[in-house]
Amino acid sequence: MKLHPVIALKPAGADIPARDFQVGGVAPFSATDYPGKLAAVLFVQGCPWRCGYCHNPHLQPRPSESPLAWPQVLDFLKRRRGLLDAVVFSGGEPTIDPALPEAIAAVRELGFAIGLHSGGIYPRRLAEVLPLLDWIGLDIKAPFDLYEKITGAPDSGRQARQCAEAVLASGVAHEFRTTVHASLLSEPELLDLAHTLAQMGARNYALQVFRKQGCASDELNAAARSGYPSMQLVDQVSALFPAFTLRRD
Ligand code: SF4
Repeated sequence: MKLHPVIALKPAGADIPARDFQVGGVAPFSATDYPGKLAAVLFVQGCPWRCGYCHNPHLQPRPSESPLAWPQVLDFLKRRRGLLDAVVFSGGEPTIDPALPEAIAAVRELGFAIGLHSGGIYPRRLAEVLPLLDWIGLDIKAPFDLYEKITGAPDSGRQARQCAEAVLASGVAHEFRTTVHASLLSEPELLDLAHTLAQMGARNYALQVFRKQGCASDELNAAARSGYPSMQLVDQVSALFPAFTLRRD
């Protein structure tokens, strides 16, 4: 997930209901978070996984109150009508929030297309919101039997597989994307993952080469090396999908 300048909105006050949608930050303008559309990005607060390369570790805790007041976020979006095409719910993990369907409905009512970034953590909640989306970017972190090495969470590979299957069954426009770091995924593992996704029916896949910016892991930052993955591997992966993107800074 990407780093963005985050606008300052008033923190939530005591008058905001506990179940109010929890937003930890807002990026007012992005040309890179929803393919082909100008979007605002809402960073939902909370994520139960602990990926070492997480660029938003400050969004992992789930406090009892929203850092930003949801009514103020909606007011901000109202003022962006006509200037933006879409709103992307990102995180953290947006499906952690039980109020996500209502939040999506409120934003759609303003006339925006709806995008979602998900780590693939909550299959049931994801299935619930898929009919409300125009596009989803789903992280696929590793071959499903190797997930715990990345996320630190037992059973995370099963959850992620169920989420991937739900996205493909839904027909919602998608991008599956994998962050790659030589210490976390070998090239044979990466190729194995790409074959699995292609066999499942994924049509749009992206490899995102690890970036040090925003990563709190000294170990991963020190072990990052250029030239990984090799172009030979990238070509092999690319050939498996109708649409493929390599993101390398
Ligand atoms: S799933 Fe995403 S938000 Fe959660 S720890 Fe991993 S990279 Fe960070």
